[in-house]
Amino acid sequence: MQKVGILGGGQLGRMLLQAAANYPVITYVLENDAECPAAHLCHHFTLGDIKDYDTVYRFGKQLDALTIEIEAVNVDALEQLEKEGVRVYPSSSALRIIKNKILQKAFYKEKEIPTAPFVVIENKAALANHVDMLPAVQKLGEGGYDGRGVQILKDSYDLRLGFDAPSVLEKMVTIKKELSVIVVSSGQEEPAIFPATEMAFHPELNLLDYQLCPAEIPRETLWKAEALAMMVVKGLGSPGIFAVELFVDNRGDVLVNETAPRVHNSGHHTIEAAYSSQFDMLWRVLLGYPLGNPAPIQTSVLLNVVGAEGYSGDAIYEGLEEVLKMENAFVHLYGKKKTKPGRKMGHITLMGKDRQELIYQAGAIKKLFRVIA
Ligand code: ADP
Repeated sequence: MQKVGILGGGQLGRMLLQAAANYPVITYVLENDAECPAAHLCHHFTLGDIKDYDTVYRFGKQLDALTIEIEAVNVDALEQLEKEGVRVYPSSSALRIIKNKILQKAFYKEKEIPTAPFVVIENKAALANHVDMLPAVQKLGEGGYDGRGVQILKDSYDLRLGFDAPSVLEKMVTIKKELSVIVVSSGQEEPAIFPATEMAFHPELNLLDYQLCPAEIPRETLWKAEALAMMVVKGLGSPGIFAVELFVDNRGDVLVNETAPRVHNSGHHTIEAAYSSQFDMLWRVLLGYPLGNPAPIQTSVLLNVVGAEGYSGDAIYEGLEEVLKMENAFVHLYGKKKTKPGRKMGHITLMGKDRQELIYQAGAIKKLFRVIA
């Protein structure tokens, strides 16, 4: 049986391992927390730092193939492992580009892939030379994750808030919609494209955010989004799964925001709502099998379950039983012992025919289901 490893042991790794159970594969996870969400679902768990060269090299050396669930890993070790014949998906070269937002934006520019206009900033002082870019969004070259490396700079007064590190300063886009298109490339056959997901924001339902798939967008917008996602993946030239995040602006233009070279939050609904899930697809790539069918089975709305404000400590799932009684709700809890405000603790996928009903139901769940301590 093939031995396949995952760098990182969070919820993405956990859901990957759930899908791995359907295949002949021996699974390995490297993570520096023995209680992480993926630790108990793999065959072999290694405690160690995914950023450390020797640790990653030693972990990978025993494997046939290796993937990631987070970008912040030691890419030099992956490059060496590739040279020694380990299949690394995404490739080290693709990962190197994506891992650094400066290189990532330069890649889009070089490939003529539409993206928000930007300049590269070396440090905070250099921001003052680019007031013409304001309002803008400053993004750390390395080290940002889940919005933490992103700072909005509205006017020159805001420049004091800027990061003092190499970063991208990008023009603020008037966003009409945020989309994600997940593309799976095996390197053998034509890539598979999942239907676009829309990151929605509901003004009346108290800042409810949810994801809707397939996205409610004109056909031309979908075509543009899919074409751009394909350009990104072709340009990166690596097998693997890629979530391309896009903006639709107020003129209907579609821009690439960023790419994740791994399974992604915007694809969690595919576990139930697509014939082949994003996790299933990645195993097919890693193990050299034909790609699956990315088509949707039904319309879905996905809600992230995050720790409620004001509660830190051992997680308690208030209202869980009511949600479990709902016939079209699929509950995923990530097995994290401790909650804190905003921490991703799970997700709920709702499936049905009527978008409005699903969105209404999501709002109701948001009110009755909470993670407290
Ligand atoms: P992260 O990698 O931390 O998720 P993103 O680059 O995706 O960071 O930015 C986080 C969010 O900030 C985006 O989802 C979007 O809502 C907003 N954002 C990012 N870039 C821009 C931009 N150029 N104009 C307007 N909003 C932006």
